[in-house]
Amino acid sequence: MALLLEGRGLAASIRARVASEAAALGGRPPGLAVILVGDDPASESYVAGKRKACEKAGFVSSVSRFFDSVGPEVLLAEIARLNADPSIDGILCQLPLPGHIPLDAVARAVLPSKDVDGFHPQNVGSLWRGERGIVPCTPAGIMRLLDANGIDPSGRRAVVVGRSGIVGKPVAALLLAANATVTIAHSKTRDLASVCREAYILVTAAGIPGLIGADFVAPGAVVIDVGITRTAGGLAGDVDFESVEPLCSAITPVPGGVGPLTIALLLENTLACRKLAAG
Ligand code: ADP
Repeated sequence: MALLLEGRGLAASIRARVASEAAALGGRPPGLAVILVGDDPASESYVAGKRKACEKAGFVSSVSRFFDSVGPEVLLAEIARLNADPSIDGILCQLPLPGHIPLDAVARAVLPSKDVDGFHPQNVGSLWRGERGIVPCTPAGIMRLLDANGIDPSGRRAVVVGRSGIVGKPVAALLLAANATVTIAHSKTRDLASVCREAYILVTAAGIPGLIGADFVAPGAVVIDVGITRTAGGLAGDVDFESVEPLCSAITPVPGGVGPLTIALLLENTLACRKLAAG
C-alpha cells in the first residue's frame, strides 16, 4: 500500500506556527488584501477559505470586489492603493481573471515585496536564479509535503505535467533547486505516458480528471496530484487514484493532499512580507 501524503495535518501545524510567530511580532498584525473579480462560486469559496485562515492566524484581511466588466485601469488603481497602504503586507488577485484583464499587467503591478503569490517577474526571476524571493504557494506546499514525508528529490528523475506559471513552472524550478533531474511535460508532449513513466516524482497539474492512469506510473513512484477539477461527483484530481495507488510508494489524496498546504503557505508568505515591512 502506498503512503498517503496527507496535507491537512501538516497545513495545520504550519498555520499554528505562523499564528504564534505573528502574535510574537508585536505591533500591528500581518495584513492580506485579496482582489476578487466576478462571482465565480469556486473563486468565492477559495477567497472565503483564505479569509477564514487569516482570521484564525490573527491576521487582518480585506477583499476588494469588482464586477466581471471591470476595466483593467480600475484594478491597477486598486493595486496601487494597496501597494501604498502600510497596513497591508500581502496582495493577491484571485484567479481566474476575466479574459479582458491582462494577467501580466496585474502581476507586474503588485509590489514585489507584497507579492504573496510570487507571480511578479522579479520573484519569478529570483526563483529561477535560486535567490531569495517569494515562492508561489502551491509549489512551495508541494516541496513541504515531500520534505515532511522524507522524500528527497536529489538525484532523482522528476516529471511535471503542466507548464502554467502558477504550478508547473515554479514547481519545476523548486525540484531543480532540490537537485532533481526535471522534465516539464504539457499539452503538446508526445507519448506523455512514457515520459511520465520515467519519473520517480510525478507532479501533475493539468486539470484533466483521469489523465494519469496506471500506464503513466512506474512502480515505486511518488505521485503528487495538483489538478483539482470540480465535477458532478465532487473534486477530482488528474490521477486515476484507484488504478495508480497500488503502484506507488506514495501518493496524495484529492482533496486533502496539496490543497490544504496552499493556504498555509499563503499565510507563511504574508508573515514573511510583514517581517520584511518591519525591516
Ligand atoms: P494550473 O493552474 O493548475 O497550473 P492551468 O489550467 O493553468 O493549470 O494549466 C494547465 C496545464 O496543463 C497547461 O500547462 C497545459 O499545457 C497542461 N495540459 C493540458 N492538457 C494536457 C495534456 N493532455 N497533457 C499534458 N499536459 C496538459
